[in-house]
Amino acid sequence: MRAVIQERAQAPLVLQDVPAPAVGPREARVRVRACGVCHTDLHLAEGLFKTFGYDPFPLVPGHEIAGVVEKVGQDVTHVRPGDRVSVYWWHSCGRCRCCLAGEEESCLEGLAQMDATGLTRNGGYAEWVSVPADCLVPLPAEIEFAEAAPFTCAGLTVYAGLKNAGLRPGQRAAMLGIGGLGHLGLQIARAMGAEVIALTSSESKQEIARQLGAHHVLPAAGREYGKRLRELGGADVVVSATMDFQTIRDVMDGLLPQGTLVLASLAAGRLPIDPRTFILAQQRVMGTFLESRLQLQELLQLAVLHGIRPLVEKYPLEQAAEAQQRLRENKVQFRAVLEP
Ligand SMILES: [Zn+2]
Ligand SMILES: [Zn+2]
Repeated sequence: MRAVIQERAQAPLVLQDVPAPAVGPREARVRVRACGVCHTDLHLAEGLFKTFGYDPFPLVPGHEIAGVVEKVGQDVTHVRPGDRVSVYWWHSCGRCRCCLAGEEESCLEGLAQMDATGLTRNGGYAEWVSVPADCLVPLPAEIEFAEAAPFTCAGLTVYAGLKNAGLRPGQRAAMLGIGGLGHLGLQIARAMGAEVIALTSSESKQEIARQLGAHHVLPAAGREYGKRLRELGGADVVVSATMDFQTIRDVMDGLLPQGTLVLASLAAGRLPIDPRTFILAQQRVMGTFLESRLQLQELLQLAVLHGIRPLVEKYPLEQAAEAQQRLRENKVQFRAVLEP
Protein backbone atom coordinates (compact mmCIF):
# COMPACT_ATOMS: atom_id res chain seq x y z
CA MET A 1 0.00 0.00 0.00
CA ARG A 2 0.99 3.64 -0.17
CA ALA A 3 1.70 5.28 3.16
CA VAL A 4 3.18 8.58 4.30
CA ILE A 5 5.99 7.91 6.73
CA GLN A 6 7.85 10.16 9.10
CA GLU A 7 11.23 8.59 9.90
CA ARG A 8 12.02 10.73 12.94
CA ALA A 9 11.06 14.01 14.60
CA GLN A 10 11.45 16.97 12.22
CA ALA A 11 12.07 14.67 9.25
CA PRO A 12 10.02 15.33 6.12
CA LEU A 13 6.94 13.24 5.33
CA VAL A 14 7.75 10.70 2.62
CA LEU A 15 5.26 8.73 0.55
CA GLN A 16 6.38 5.10 0.32
CA ASP A 17 5.20 1.69 -0.80
CA VAL A 18 5.00 -0.57 2.25
CA PRO A 19 3.27 -3.87 3.04
CA ALA A 20 -0.39 -3.54 4.07
CA PRO A 21 -0.68 -3.80 7.87
CA ALA A 22 -1.26 -7.24 9.41
CA VAL A 23 -4.55 -7.88 11.20
CA GLY A 24 -4.31 -9.24 14.74
CA PRO A 25 -7.03 -11.54 16.15
CA ARG A 26 -8.87 -8.63 17.80
CA GLU A 27 -8.08 -6.02 15.15
CA ALA A 28 -9.71 -4.77 12.00
CA ARG A 29 -8.07 -3.42 8.87
CA VAL A 30 -9.75 -0.29 7.59
CA ARG A 31 -9.52 1.09 4.05
CA VAL A 32 -8.85 4.73 4.92
CA ARG A 33 -11.18 6.99 2.94
CA ALA A 34 -10.35 10.17 4.83
CA CYS A 35 -7.85 11.26 7.47
CA GLY A 36 -7.85 14.71 9.01
CA VAL A 37 -4.65 16.69 9.52
CA CYS A 38 -4.67 17.84 13.14
CA HIS A 39 -2.47 20.32 15.01
CA THR A 40 -1.36 17.38 17.13
CA ASP A 41 0.25 15.95 13.96
CA LEU A 42 2.41 19.08 13.84
CA HIS A 43 3.34 18.75 17.52
CA LEU A 44 4.18 15.11 16.83
CA ALA A 45 6.27 16.02 13.78
CA GLU A 46 8.17 18.62 15.77
CA GLY A 47 9.01 16.06 18.47
CA LEU A 48 6.78 17.32 21.28
CA PHE A 49 6.02 13.80 22.44
CA LYS A 50 9.68 13.31 23.25
CA THR A 51 9.15 15.72 26.12
CA PHE A 52 6.54 13.22 27.41
CA GLY A 53 9.08 10.42 27.05
CA TYR A 54 7.91 8.93 23.72
CA ASP A 55 9.74 8.47 20.49
CA PRO A 56 7.25 6.76 18.23
CA PHE A 57 9.19 7.08 14.96
CA PRO A 58 9.28 5.84 12.28
CA LEU A 59 5.53 6.31 12.13
CA VAL A 60 2.58 6.75 9.79
CA PRO A 61 0.82 9.76 11.39
CA GLY A 62 -2.90 10.53 11.26
CA HIS A 63 -5.55 9.95 13.92
CA GLU A 64 -8.75 11.45 12.44
CA ILE A 65 -9.80 8.44 10.43
CA ALA A 66 -12.98 7.43 8.60
CA GLY A 67 -13.23 4.52 6.21
CA VAL A 68 -14.56 1.08 5.43
CA VAL A 69 -13.73 -2.17 7.22
CA GLU A 70 -11.84 -4.38 4.81
CA LYS A 71 -10.82 -7.35 6.96
CA VAL A 72 -11.37 -8.43 10.56
CA GLY A 73 -9.34 -10.65 12.91
CA GLN A 74 -10.57 -14.12 13.90
CA ASP A 75 -11.99 -12.98 17.26
CA VAL A 76 -13.94 -10.01 15.90
CA THR A 77 -17.68 -10.49 15.56
CA HIS A 78 -19.24 -7.02 15.98
CA VAL A 79 -18.03 -5.44 12.72
CA ARG A 80 -17.87 -6.86 9.23
CA PRO A 81 -16.06 -6.06 5.99
CA GLY A 82 -17.97 -3.29 4.23
CA ASP A 83 -19.04 -1.46 7.41
CA ARG A 84 -18.57 2.32 7.32
CA VAL A 85 -16.67 3.34 10.42
CA SER A 86 -14.89 6.13 12.23
CA VAL A 87 -11.92 5.32 14.44
CA TYR A 88 -11.73 6.21 18.13
CA TRP A 89 -7.98 6.70 18.21
CA TRP A 90 -7.22 6.69 21.93
CA HIS A 91 -6.88 3.16 23.22
CA SER A 92 -7.84 2.15 26.73
CA CYS A 93 -7.45 -0.89 28.96
CA GLY A 94 -11.13 -1.39 29.77
CA ARG A 95 -10.29 -2.34 33.37
CA CYS A 96 -8.98 0.68 35.29
CA ARG A 97 -11.20 2.91 37.42
CA CYS A 98 -11.54 5.51 34.63
CA CYS A 99 -12.49 2.89 32.03
CA LEU A 100 -15.01 1.34 34.42
CA ALA A 101 -16.51 4.79 34.94
CA GLY A 102 -16.94 5.18 31.17
CA GLU A 103 -14.16 7.75 31.01
CA GLU A 104 -11.86 5.81 28.75
CA GLU A 105 -10.15 8.97 27.49
CA SER A 106 -8.64 9.23 30.98
CA CYS A 107 -7.60 5.54 31.06
CA LEU A 108 -4.69 5.33 33.50
CA GLU A 109 -2.95 2.71 31.36
CA GLY A 110 -3.69 4.65 28.19
CA LEU A 111 -2.15 7.80 29.64
CA ALA A 112 0.86 5.88 30.99
CA GLN A 113 1.56 4.04 27.74
CA MET A 114 0.12 6.56 25.30
CA ASP A 115 -1.30 3.91 23.04
CA ALA A 116 -2.95 5.80 20.23
CA THR A 117 -3.52 5.32 16.52
CA GLY A 118 -1.50 7.87 14.57
CA LEU A 119 0.55 8.91 17.61
CA THR A 120 2.31 5.78 18.85
CA ARG A 121 1.01 3.21 16.37
CA ASN A 122 0.66 3.65 12.63
CA GLY A 123 -2.22 5.87 11.62
CA GLY A 124 -4.31 7.07 8.71
CA TYR A 125 -1.92 8.85 6.33
CA ALA A 126 -2.10 5.59 4.37
CA GLU A 127 -4.40 3.47 2.24
CA TRP A 128 -5.00 1.00 5.06
CA VAL A 129 -4.71 1.04 8.82
CA SER A 130 -5.08 -1.75 11.38
CA VAL A 131 -6.73 -0.77 14.65
CA PRO A 132 -8.21 -2.57 17.67
CA ALA A 133 -11.68 -3.54 16.42
CA ASP A 134 -13.22 -2.27 19.67
CA CYS A 135 -12.21 1.25 18.62
CA LEU A 136 -14.49 1.31 15.62
CA VAL A 137 -17.58 3.49 15.89
CA PRO A 138 -20.32 3.13 13.25
CA LEU A 139 -20.48 5.99 10.78
CA PRO A 140 -24.01 7.12 9.83
CA ALA A 141 -24.72 6.96 6.09
CA GLU A 142 -25.62 10.68 6.05
CA ILE A 143 -22.05 11.77 6.77
CA GLU A 144 -19.39 11.65 4.03
CA PHE A 145 -16.00 10.23 4.92
CA ALA A 146 -14.12 13.53 4.53
CA GLU A 147 -16.68 15.24 6.76
CA ALA A 148 -16.65 12.44 9.30
CA ALA A 149 -12.91 12.37 9.95
CA PRO A 150 -12.66 15.73 11.79
CA PHE A 151 -15.34 14.67 14.28
CA THR A 152 -13.07 11.98 15.72
CA CYS A 153 -10.62 14.49 17.22
CA ALA A 154 -11.45 18.17 16.63
CA GLY A 155 -15.20 17.68 17.00
CA LEU A 156 -15.02 15.28 19.93
CA THR A 157 -12.57 17.49 21.83
CA VAL A 158 -14.79 20.54 21.62
CA TYR A 159 -18.02 18.57 22.25
CA ALA A 160 -16.44 17.07 25.37
CA GLY A 161 -15.39 20.53 26.52
CA LEU A 162 -18.86 22.00 26.13
CA LYS A 163 -20.48 19.01 27.83
CA ASN A 164 -18.04 18.77 30.71
CA ALA A 165 -18.27 22.52 31.29
CA GLY A 166 -21.95 21.84 31.97
CA LEU A 167 -23.29 24.00 29.14
CA ARG A 168 -27.07 24.22 29.37
CA PRO A 169 -29.65 25.30 26.76
CA GLY A 170 -30.10 29.06 26.80
CA GLN A 171 -26.64 29.71 28.19
CA ARG A 172 -23.95 31.57 26.33
CA ALA A 173 -21.01 29.77 24.77
CA ALA A 174 -18.12 31.67 23.23
CA MET A 175 -15.63 30.12 20.83
CA LEU A 176 -12.24 31.78 20.92
CA GLY A 177 -10.52 31.09 17.61
CA ILE A 178 -12.55 29.93 14.60
CA GLY A 179 -10.38 27.26 13.04
CA GLY A 180 -10.61 23.47 12.91
CA LEU A 181 -12.03 23.16 16.43
CA GLY A 182 -13.80 26.48 16.69
CA HIS A 183 -15.87 26.24 13.52
CA LEU A 184 -17.19 22.86 14.67
CA GLY A 185 -17.56 24.13 18.23
CA LEU A 186 -19.93 26.91 17.33
CA GLN A 187 -22.17 24.55 15.34
CA ILE A 188 -22.14 22.01 18.18
CA ALA A 189 -22.84 24.65 20.86
CA ARG A 190 -25.78 25.90 18.83
CA ALA A 191 -27.14 22.37 18.46
CA MET A 192 -26.83 22.02 22.25
CA GLY A 193 -29.16 24.99 22.62
CA ALA A 194 -26.67 27.71 23.49
CA GLU A 195 -26.49 31.33 22.40
CA VAL A 196 -23.23 31.24 20.47
CA ILE A 197 -20.56 33.92 20.29
CA ALA A 198 -17.67 33.68 17.83
CA LEU A 199 -14.47 35.53 18.71
CA THR A 200 -12.18 35.97 15.73
CA SER A 201 -9.94 38.71 14.43
CA SER A 202 -10.04 37.29 10.91
CA GLU A 203 -12.45 39.21 8.71
CA SER A 204 -13.02 36.33 6.31
CA LYS A 205 -13.97 34.05 9.20
CA GLN A 206 -16.48 36.48 10.68
CA GLU A 207 -18.97 36.02 7.86
CA ILE A 208 -18.46 32.25 7.83
CA ALA A 209 -19.01 32.12 11.60
CA ARG A 210 -22.39 33.79 11.08
CA GLN A 211 -23.28 31.34 8.30
CA LEU A 212 -22.34 28.45 10.59
CA GLY A 213 -24.80 29.66 13.20
CA ALA A 214 -23.03 32.10 15.52
CA HIS A 215 -25.60 34.46 17.07
CA HIS A 216 -22.91 37.08 17.70
CA VAL A 217 -19.56 37.66 16.10
CA LEU A 218 -17.05 39.76 18.00
CA PRO A 219 -14.27 41.00 15.79
CA ALA A 220 -11.43 42.03 18.03
CA ALA A 221 -7.74 41.58 18.26
CA GLY A 222 -5.19 41.34 21.03
CA ARG A 223 -6.41 42.43 24.43
CA GLU A 224 -9.96 43.33 23.50
CA TYR A 225 -11.94 40.09 23.63
CA GLY A 226 -12.48 40.16 27.38
CA LYS A 227 -13.76 43.72 27.27
CA ARG A 228 -15.96 43.18 24.22
CA LEU A 229 -17.36 39.96 25.63
CA ARG A 230 -18.15 41.71 28.91
CA GLU A 231 -19.91 44.52 27.02
CA LEU A 232 -22.03 41.90 25.29
CA GLY A 233 -23.05 40.48 28.66
CA GLY A 234 -20.36 37.81 29.13
CA ALA A 235 -20.29 34.06 28.48
CA ASP A 236 -21.04 31.04 30.66
CA VAL A 237 -18.56 28.90 28.78
CA VAL A 238 -15.57 30.02 26.74
CA VAL A 239 -13.81 27.38 24.68
CA SER A 240 -10.31 28.44 23.75
CA ALA A 241 -8.97 26.93 20.55
CA THR A 242 -6.28 29.52 20.04
CA MET A 243 -2.54 29.09 20.43
CA ASP A 244 -2.18 32.72 21.43
CA PHE A 245 -1.72 32.72 25.15
CA GLN A 246 -2.15 36.47 25.66
CA THR A 247 -5.59 36.22 24.09
CA ILE A 248 -6.56 33.42 26.45
CA ARG A 249 -5.51 35.54 29.43
CA ASP A 250 -7.51 38.44 28.10
CA VAL A 251 -10.74 36.56 27.36
CA MET A 252 -11.06 35.49 31.00
CA ASP A 253 -12.36 39.00 31.70
CA GLY A 254 -15.48 38.10 29.73
CA LEU A 255 -16.34 35.00 31.75
CA LEU A 256 -19.55 35.21 33.78
CA PRO A 257 -19.71 34.24 37.47
CA GLN A 258 -19.73 30.45 37.73
CA GLY A 259 -18.45 30.41 34.18
CA THR A 260 -15.94 27.94 32.78
CA LEU A 261 -12.93 28.51 30.57
CA VAL A 262 -12.20 25.37 28.57
CA LEU A 263 -8.69 24.99 27.18
CA ALA A 264 -8.78 22.94 24.00
CA SER A 265 -5.45 23.64 22.35
CA LEU A 266 -1.87 23.35 23.47
CA ALA A 267 -0.94 26.95 24.08
CA ALA A 268 2.11 27.30 26.28
CA GLY A 269 2.17 29.68 29.22
CA ARG A 270 0.85 30.21 32.73
CA LEU A 271 -2.64 31.50 33.39
CA PRO A 272 -2.76 34.30 35.94
CA ILE A 273 -5.59 33.62 38.35
CA ASP A 274 -6.43 36.17 41.01
CA PRO A 275 -8.00 34.08 43.78
CA ARG A 276 -9.95 37.08 45.05
CA THR A 277 -12.09 37.50 41.95
CA PHE A 278 -11.87 33.88 40.94
CA ILE A 279 -13.21 32.58 44.25
CA LEU A 280 -15.93 35.19 44.54
CA ALA A 281 -17.07 34.48 40.99
CA GLN A 282 -16.81 30.69 41.51
CA GLN A 283 -15.24 30.21 38.09
CA ARG A 284 -13.48 27.21 36.67
CA VAL A 285 -10.67 26.57 34.23
CA MET A 286 -10.57 23.10 32.72
CA GLY A 287 -8.89 21.23 29.93
CA THR A 288 -10.66 19.05 27.40
CA PHE A 289 -9.40 15.92 25.75
CA LEU A 290 -11.71 13.73 23.71
CA GLU A 291 -14.45 11.74 25.42
CA SER A 292 -15.53 8.16 25.13
CA ARG A 293 -16.58 6.07 22.13
CA LEU A 294 -20.16 6.50 23.29
CA GLN A 295 -19.83 10.28 23.05
CA LEU A 296 -18.32 9.99 19.56
CA GLN A 297 -21.41 8.02 18.56
CA GLU A 298 -23.60 10.65 20.22
CA LEU A 299 -21.76 13.47 18.43
CA LEU A 300 -22.12 11.83 15.01
CA GLN A 301 -25.85 11.48 15.66
CA LEU A 302 -26.05 15.12 16.77
CA ALA A 303 -24.31 16.02 13.49
CA VAL A 304 -26.90 14.07 11.49
CA LEU A 305 -29.85 15.63 13.34
CA HIS A 306 -28.58 19.23 13.19
CA GLY A 307 -26.64 19.22 9.93
CA ILE A 308 -23.33 19.91 11.67
CA ARG A 309 -20.48 19.50 9.18
CA PRO A 310 -16.86 20.57 9.09
CA LEU A 311 -15.64 22.71 6.21
CA VAL A 312 -12.79 20.76 4.70
CA GLU A 313 -9.97 21.14 2.19
CA LYS A 314 -9.27 17.80 0.53
CA TYR A 315 -5.81 16.60 -0.45
CA PRO A 316 -4.48 13.40 -2.03
CA LEU A 317 -1.99 11.39 0.01
CA GLU A 318 0.99 12.71 -1.96
CA GLN A 319 0.20 16.22 -0.70
CA ALA A 320 0.32 15.34 3.01
CA ALA A 321 3.39 17.52 3.58
CA GLU A 322 1.75 20.42 1.77
CA ALA A 323 -1.42 20.05 3.87
CA GLN A 324 0.65 20.10 7.07
CA GLN A 325 2.55 23.14 5.86
CA ARG A 326 -0.68 25.03 5.19
CA LEU A 327 -1.85 24.17 8.69
CA ARG A 328 1.47 25.37 10.12
CA GLU A 329 1.00 28.67 8.29
CA ASN A 330 -2.61 29.03 9.48
CA LYS A 331 -3.92 28.91 5.92
CA VAL A 332 -6.30 25.95 6.19
CA GLN A 333 -10.02 26.70 5.91
CA PHE A 334 -11.03 24.95 8.25
CA ARG A 335 -9.79 21.38 8.32
CA ALA A 336 -7.38 19.71 5.93
CA VAL A 337 -8.34 16.13 5.12
CA LEU A 338 -6.29 13.58 3.20
CA GLU A 339 -8.15 11.22 0.89
CA PRO A 340 -5.82 8.23 0.40
ZN1 LIG B 1 -8.27 1.96 31.50
ZN1 LIG C 1 -6.24 15.57 16.82
